[in-house]
Amino acid sequence: MKCPVCSKNIDIEGADSKTGETAFGAKEIDPSKGTRQFHDGEWYFLCSLGCRTKFTMSPQRYLAGKA
Ligand SMILES: [Zn+2]
Repeated sequence: MKCPVCSKNIDIEGADSKTGETAFGAKEIDPSKGTRQFHDGEWYFLCSLGCRTKFTMSPQRYLAGKA
């Protein structure tokens, strides 16, 4: 899996691993290992919060090359 913003390889297990829970029972992840964003029915993995912000602002821009 590659980051759609910067094409860096992402360790999905790291990005998706649980580091704890919030007081409301939501999953906490370590953003330094990557993060993810739900878009158009799919989860997209991003290498960092910075890339996630860019992706969230204009997802079509980064998904243009996708079928
Ligand atoms: Zn990235």
